[in-house]
Amino acid sequence: MTDSCIFCKIISGEAKATVVYRDEQVIAFRDIHPVAPTHILIVPNKHVESVSTLESEDEPLIGHLFTVASQLANEEGISKGGYRLITNTGVDGGQTVPHLHLHLIGGRRMRYPMG
Ligand code: AMP
Repeated sequence: MTDSCIFCKIISGEAKATVVYRDEQVIAFRDIHPVAPTHILIVPNKHVESVSTLESEDEPLIGHLFTVASQLANEEGISKGGYRLITNTGVDGGQTVPHLHLHLIGGRRMRYPMG
C-alpha cells in the first residue's frame, strides 16, 4: 500500500471504482476513461510499480493476472472476437499510474500498428 497511489486507494476501498472482480491477489475494475466498449484494468493487490520492478517471486502473480483477464474476457463476451492486453511501462511506455496493471480492451476491432 502506497498512500498516494490511486489504485492502492481503490484496493483498500478508500476510492470508488466499478469493480468487476476481486480475489486475494488481484482486483479488476472498469477504466474511468474507456477507449473501447470493454476496458477493464486488472491490478495486483500488492503495490508493484511496473514490469521494470518485478521480482522472480512475482511470476505466479503475473500468470494470475492473465488468467483473470481471460476469465473476464469470457464474461464480457469478447473472447471469440478477440481483444488486446496492454501493460504500459514507464514514461516512454505511456504509463500514467505507477502501479502495475493490465488493460483488457475489446468489443471493437483494434487498430494496428501500435504506437
Ligand atoms: P496507464 O496510462 O497505462 O498507466 O493506465 C492508467 C489507466 O488508469 C488510464 O487508462 C486511466 O484512465 C485509468 N485510471 C486512472 N484513474 C482511475 C480511476 N480512479 N478509476 C479507474 N481508472 C482510472
